[in-house]
Amino acid sequence: MAHQTGITIKSNRELKLMLEAGQIIARAKAKLAAAIVPGVATRDLDAIAEDEIRENGAIPSFKGYKAGGVIPFPGTICVSINDEIVHGIPSERKLNEGEIISIDVGAIYHGLHADSAFTIGVGEVSDEAQRLMDATRESLDRGIAKIRAGARIGDISSAVQTYAEGLGYGVVRQYVGHGIGFEMHEDPQVPNYGQPGRGPLIRKGMALAIEPMLNIGGWETRQLDDGWTVSTADGTLSAHFEDTIAITEDGPTVTTRLVSTS
Ligand code: MG
Ligand code: MG
Repeated sequence: MAHQTGITIKSNRELKLMLEAGQIIARAKAKLAAAIVPGVATRDLDAIAEDEIRENGAIPSFKGYKAGGVIPFPGTICVSINDEIVHGIPSERKLNEGEIISIDVGAIYHGLHADSAFTIGVGEVSDEAQRLMDATRESLDRGIAKIRAGARIGDISSAVQTYAEGLGYGVVRQYVGHGIGFEMHEDPQVPNYGQPGRGPLIRKGMALAIEPMLNIGGWETRQLDDGWTVSTADGTLSAHFEDTIAITEDGPTVTTRLVSTS
């Protein structure tokens, strides 16, 4: 994995490209969410995302991504269903009413990255599943609320962990958020557990991908035989939300949520 210690945003140019990469991903997420209904195959979702990214002049960043010793990732999106946490491969598998699906999607726009994920129900889901998804989204928002120049990465980590564990959820430890910019994964790592006031300093010009993964059961994970998909070790449901945040002159800006143009 390539690491830079990222001060990505050195001028308006980097900022504009990062924002546009994020907006392309935000629009792709909206299209994906609208397409998630019982009976849709996950590879059809993958095609929707790839078309949206390419039509906007960007490149899917996951496709062909190589990590230690496995096949290059074959999709534009990761689709992780029910007890799957991250890195599921799009396929002919059709979604069923009552399942939950996590979609992770990233793009590169003129060299700048955006990375984002969300979990959504397929049709009607159980109250237990809905509570998990709501809590995961809220834990992301609580982490984002801690971002400012001069704070520490541990401030984010602690906010996520305290909230999630307070509700009894397992916080995944093996996979973490990260710096992002000219590479998808840069330093610093942003764990979803930790201590306030500890860890690397957050500085103006950095961009961070914050991505809590919460399990109804324990935090332990299991790697499936396809070399990519990661599920909960105990088979309980898992949810994942992620946004890319640029720390600008004017404070933190979430790049991967739709900005109203009206
Ligand atoms: Mg991601
Ligand atoms: Mg990420």
